[in-house]
Amino acid sequence: MSSAFSLTTPGQQADIAVGAADHAGALLTIDLGAVVDNWLTLKGMAADGADCAAVLKANAYGLGAVPVAQALAAAGCRNFFVAHVDEGIALRRHLPAAANLFVLHGAPPGAEEACAANGLIPILNSLPQLRAWVALCGRWSRRLPAGVQVDSGMARAGMDAAELAELDAVPELLAAFDLRLIMSHLACADEPESPMNREQLQAFSTIRARFPQVPASFANSSGVFLGKEWHFDLLRPGVALYGGNPTPGKPNPMRPVVRLRAKIMQMRAVPAGASVGYGRGHITSAPSRIATAGVGYADGFFRCLGGTARAYWADTPLPIVGRVSMDMITVDVTAVPEDLLYPGALIDLIGTHRTVDDLATEAGTISYEILTSLGNRYHRTYINGTGRVASVSSSL
Ligand SMILES: *Cc1c(COP(=O)(O)O)cnc(C)c1O
Repeated sequence: MSSAFSLTTPGQQADIAVGAADHAGALLTIDLGAVVDNWLTLKGMAADGADCAAVLKANAYGLGAVPVAQALAAAGCRNFFVAHVDEGIALRRHLPAAANLFVLHGAPPGAEEACAANGLIPILNSLPQLRAWVALCGRWSRRLPAGVQVDSGMARAGMDAAELAELDAVPELLAAFDLRLIMSHLACADEPESPMNREQLQAFSTIRARFPQVPASFANSSGVFLGKEWHFDLLRPGVALYGGNPTPGKPNPMRPVVRLRAKIMQMRAVPAGASVGYGRGHITSAPSRIATAGVGYADGFFRCLGGTARAYWADTPLPIVGRVSMDMITVDVTAVPEDLLYPGALIDLIGTHRTVDDLATEAGTISYEILTSLGNRYHRTYINGTGRVASVSSSL
């Protein structure tokens, strides 16, 4: 056990290098070739003249912002979005100099200089944010680049009508910086029937018409599928790049990106009536074989999945029985011949039979939350789509 850990100097945070898949309780495989294919698919759908960006916030939805950004940059992606300034600072040096790295939240008060000094392009979401950016432009005597987000009906981030009117009244403000992008965000893009999509489109088009020279961006993953009217100049997909279904209720047009396999730690045979796990969460109805595997809610395998989700061994579904523990699950593997499952064998938790969206449905959530919760104890392997290992790392 201790050989898996290398401690740094006392007082520093422990640096845990999980160098080998042998050491890990579960293995996460991330297919960068599929990420690139998904980006090319979305780019291929774009309206004439429109480009496709990539949203890399939250560590590229848990999959690793640096390897994902590098794969997409190599494929020709030139526009990237993160949420926070620090995400941008960490990522900037891994991107080509010509790539734009936008910060969706803009700079919080006091972070403007760090944002500019690191070559980040803030999205200004409010008049105070915009005034602070203009003030920095004044101090540095430079028209620094920034985008502006307008609220087209979601009441979350972006300038509202009153702020836009104020902006109109003070034209020097817009003249003081280099306005690179005007954007807004859709509230109901994953519900194509919702009238909200067209209402927001009209609201955004009206505002956008005031800045005809400035590139505009509106569509997230699901927004791409609403139609070309929603595309403007720059698509802004996130989850679809990572294999989440941008068209809920319809077949997923994206390639799967994530495979998660849990390693069996221990096998046991139990009689009918045996209780499994915390709180006697499961009582066997027949003699059963139970496998204990090394993944739990601390790894983002949600506790609510106990008794609901299924694992797979090849094509055989295996019920996850009893409660999900912090570091373990118990799986009824009675359906698999005894000699095929043993300590060290792997069962699929996310894979061909169980997509990220399936698991999300079983957990009562969305693929976004499954992906961004993927734990940092997994042994991670990045493959380039041909099955070749591009790099192996643990994020710990
Ligand atoms: C997260 C986010 C996106 C990407 O959304 P997906 O639904 O993952 O494609 C786009 N724009 C904004 C403003 C976001 O916050």
